Amino acid sequence: NVTETAAEVSTAKSQALFEEAMDVMPGGVTANIKYFKPHPIVMEEGHGSRLYDVDGNEYIDYLLCYGALMTGHGHPAVYTAVTEQMYSKGTTIFGAPHRLEITMAQKLRDLYRGIDQVRFCNSGMEATLLAVRLAAAYTGRHKIAKFEGHYHGGYDQVLMSVNPDETEEGTAENPACVPDSSGVSSECVANTVVLPFNDITACETILRKQADDVSCVIMEPIQSGFIPASPDFMKQLRALTEELGIVLIYDEVKTGFRVSLGGAQEIYGIKPDLTTLGKVLGGGFPVGALGGKREIMELCSPASGRDILTAGTSGSEKAFFHSGTYNGHPTTLAAGLATIQLLEKRGGIADVFRKTEQLKRGLTELYQEFNVPMQAMGVGSIFNIVLTDEPIRNLRDMRKADTDLRRRIDEALLTLGIYSKPMNRYSMSTAHDEADIEKTIDAHRKALERVL
Ligand code: PLP
Repeated sequence: NVTETAAEVSTAKSQALFEEAMDVMPGGVTANIKYFKPHPIVMEEGHGSRLYDVDGNEYIDYLLCYGALMTGHGHPAVYTAVTEQMYSKGTTIFGAPHRLEITMAQKLRDLYRGIDQVRFCNSGMEATLLAVRLAAAYTGRHKIAKFEGHYHGGYDQVLMSVNPDETEEGTAENPACVPDSSGVSSECVANTVVLPFNDITACETILRKQADDVSCVIMEPIQSGFIPASPDFMKQLRALTEELGIVLIYDEVKTGFRVSLGGAQEIYGIKPDLTTLGKVLGGGFPVGALGGKREIMELCSPASGRDILTAGTSGSEKAFFHSGTYNGHPTTLAAGLATIQLLEKRGGIADVFRKTEQLKRGLTELYQEFNVPMQAMGVGSIFNIVLTDEPIRNLRDMRKADTDLRRRIDEALLTLGIYSKPMNRYSMSTAHDEADIEKTIDAHRKALERVL
């Protein structure tokens, strides 16, 4: 009996700890995204595809730290690489160049068609921040263009129109630029152009009007990892940005290693000028990377320009400034390389894709059985459950989905041992197996029986 099962699940310890957390951290969390009502679940352990909370409940984890964990929790090969790096070499970090960063840079150059050279940093947000500043340095222009509904991290320039209120959003062809946080400067709003995703005619009209001021177009090639750009849209946008001298940035923080080893750019067969990576690249540790065309990336080189931190360099031009105490952290790169090697093995990423398709298919059939309109939308190892039959091409289309029903299903799933933050997408890993898939479909059945 489903109701009895739900009544047995207690999260009392989570609730008590969360109340303590509320006292010392605003909203009880260290990232706003971790907050949900009535209270987030406080976790204790993670093994393989499973998470265990402080009350001893077990969950199949589909959040996987917002997609960062592609080999599940504590994969032995990742664990070994990390401990060897830390203990055999006797240090956690050198503060100097080391072999692993060269090896990882070569790996990214080999896998990503838009990458000749790389710089590492510590988060996806840092990578996109560097990308837009580098585009400004390269072009001498200071506006940026981004797409409505696309997320690139939490700093002023890109924290625009990610999820605007419907009353503020402008028109479908000309979306308004709306800050997603209080405190964002009006100067940033004035310097940000917001584009409609998957509408090349509207993009062209907007971009041609201010081409002389726009340094870059930054985009998620597959919005939130599950709404793909159409191949024609991608081709035309590449041609348009090239013609207008605008730097095209693919933000592949979410899609990198998740939709294909070589990211969305491999799927579309297009070379962006700059690429940002994060999440899977760090194997569970904080990471970001900015890669791109040699001609643009070379602007970062203190060998060719004046740099405030580097004594003895010459040149009349100021170099593009990029630094960071923890950049290229050996532990992170050891975990990341071990992760990529696992994905490259026979049965690695291909097996994750196969299992993802199997779960999507099972859920689609189940929702059909319950007569609930549903699309399991996604690419590679990421998908989302979108409760509508209407075609989904962008944020505005997503508003046609039944979010109230989705929320109720997700809340029921939490009590049935399926973990994702309510309303979030699903990510899969090498650790998820057939039994997980069966259990997940069964839990969805019980959740639907409960909420419909
Ligand atoms: N860009 C994209 C596409 C993302 O999905 C994210 C994070 O979800 C970021 C940038 C920011 O990355 P981080 O959270 O590592 O700063």
